[in-house]
Amino acid sequence: MKTLRTVQDLRAALAPDRRAGLTIGLVPTMGALHEGHLSLIERAREQCDRVVVSLFVNPAQFNERSDLERYPRQEAHDARLAAEAGADLLFAPSVEEVYPPGFATSVEVLGVSERLEGAARGAEHFRGVCTVVTKLLCMTLPDAAYFGQKDAQQVVVIRRLVRDLNLPVRVEACPTVREPDGLAMSSRNALLEEREREQALALYWALRSIEDYAARGERRAARLLEAGHQRLTARGVHPEYLELVEPDTLERLEWLDRPALLAVAANVGATRLIDNLILAPVSESPEHLVPAPTRNETAPEFASYPTPHPNASATPIKETTCSA
Ligand code: AMP
Repeated sequence: MKTLRTVQDLRAALAPDRRAGLTIGLVPTMGALHEGHLSLIERAREQCDRVVVSLFVNPAQFNERSDLERYPRQEAHDARLAAEAGADLLFAPSVEEVYPPGFATSVEVLGVSERLEGAARGAEHFRGVCTVVTKLLCMTLPDAAYFGQKDAQQVVVIRRLVRDLNLPVRVEACPTVREPDGLAMSSRNALLEEREREQALALYWALRSIEDYAARGERRAARLLEAGHQRLTARGVHPEYLELVEPDTLERLEWLDRPALLAVAANVGATRLIDNLILAPVSESPEHLVPAPTRNETAPEFASYPTPHPNASATPIKETTCSA
């Protein structure tokens, strides 16, 4: 696997493949690769003739300078992992290569960018994501680009961007990969201290307890979310948001009467984490409804709570939900 630093070198490396009619897959990352990233690379490897992994810690999408400075960087290790997972090229440009002097253009997706992460982090976050993803797509001109469902809103925003700008690329969303105990894999997990690592699991437990509660028939979003809040605060985690939204528009839902995206963001210590699950309503009949917790009650206990993910094992967990 070759590492390339400039757009010119990337285009030169891909030109013969393109002329030969080979398909190209792009996996955009900010590095500090883990099994989640590797699952995207493996998917691209299965579907494309050439796999390009980009590694660029994009300053434009960080709303906090300290977050950007703390972000883990380990290029040599990443290069080894990407090659083992099947990448052909690692594109690791400098900040100056991506944003040369005089750079003055940005790409903004309205609506879906303004909710959840957009509301919590400000408009500049998705403006930064959309601008860099548009640039990476224009630099690489892939047939398909691979993103993780872990960043569910990012997938929605990128799909909108690709449709609105008529970009000739297929967007593939790949399932969230989790640690054996359920914590969603994230480059930021490396920043957690031991005690924080335990606390971080509360995000997953909260999502799962809401899922269990919904599986028992509760459909009122307010009740479901209240149960999740209790799980989080019991562990000393105060979410920036915990929301049940329509998966395509990201509009808030009052009722779980259709498939819904359940999304959470919280700071654990100085580390900001996000996670999500897709929920489906289970039953129409009111007799399935479980009593919701009252203000001073804790959320209903579930026989198996806190359970590991149903597929939990010593190996990372891949969720089954994945949309093309
Ligand atoms: P990042 O390096 O955090 O920008 O992530 C690069 C890509 O990997 C994004 O499309 C993420 O959604 C995806 N990704 C990050 N963590 C996971 C995970 N645990 N499972 C699946 N995909 C992930």
